[in-house]
Amino acid sequence: MTGGAGFIGSNLVRALVGLHHKVVVLDDLSTGLESNLDGTGAELVLGSIADPLAVDSAVRGADAIVHLAARGSVPRSIQEPEATHLVNATGTLNVLAAARTTGAHVIFSSSSSVYGANTVLPKREEMWMQPISPYAASKMAAESYALAYREVYDMDVLVLRFFNVYGPWQRPDHDYAAVIPRFAWNGLHGLPIEIHGDGNQTRDFTHVDSVVAVIIDALDRRFGWQTPVNLAFGQSISVNDVIAELNRQLGIVMEVVSLAARAGDVRNSMNDPALLTELFPQARAIAFSEGIASVLDWLR
Ligand code: NAD
Repeated sequence: MTGGAGFIGSNLVRALVGLHHKVVVLDDLSTGLESNLDGTGAELVLGSIADPLAVDSAVRGADAIVHLAARGSVPRSIQEPEATHLVNATGTLNVLAAARTTGAHVIFSSSSSVYGANTVLPKREEMWMQPISPYAASKMAAESYALAYREVYDMDVLVLRFFNVYGPWQRPDHDYAAVIPRFAWNGLHGLPIEIHGDGNQTRDFTHVDSVVAVIIDALDRRFGWQTPVNLAFGQSISVNDVIAELNRQLGIVMEVVSLAARAGDVRNSMNDPALLTELFPQARAIAFSEGIASVLDWLR
């Protein structure tokens, strides 16, 4: 697994180890933490997916590669577009080249951000894409390479487009932290929160346990597919809804500081889960209130 020391990766590592799989993690610990793997028994190989030799040696002998390593965050990609491309696009090419040599099944984590300027909702896989950030462009390049490799080299490749994934082990404490862990952390500590725009922007927040379950199902079946598959359940939750749910569960009213809307952010995002539920009949959404409770429990 690449990026296994990160948020989604470390949740997946724990689930796979619990099922007695051997897991090797390639991670440069740029946003992930070694401590996220404590007690899992997974082997950590320190290195970058931008280094083809590091990728080759890490994936040797693997039946499958879950490729999660990436430079996340839209704002960060606007600051550093070349570095984003190097890791997210070229790094993915390195992973695909290694898998082509070994014959490993590949599952790649793309992003709903590829739809970008396309405002039609809900999102279906065949809709046109128009990235509006370097992050989204790098993910679109990477998923295109993944599906092209599948086609021409007859590889088992699955591209999953994650929407906004949240849950335990998502860091609240770095500059580009996602809203749920950051707001939850601030709420627990009585700190004000900052929102960009009016807070009515919506996301299809997806609990990490649902994502992990789909990936494990795909691994079990060595499942590949000719198009990307959107991984979200069609729930439209606004940033203001997130704040309201946190206030409710914490029994407080958080102080909100309003900032200008951010460049590169899409206004609304919501999936049509028809293909997901056809291909993964066992995929299940987790109620938002239950998901928020899991984040608060973990942060506590
Ligand atoms: P994360 O930042 O917690 O995890 C990414 C991991 O990749 C980290 O452990 C980091 O150290 C590692 N990494 C970064 N650059 C690397 C490099 N050059 N070489 C090796 N390792 C490197 O992020 P996450 O939320 O767990 O995201 C996992 C994947 O899912 C990413 O590809 C991300 O783009 C994608 N995704 C996430 C979301 C979400 O809402 N969390 C949404 C859409 C797509």
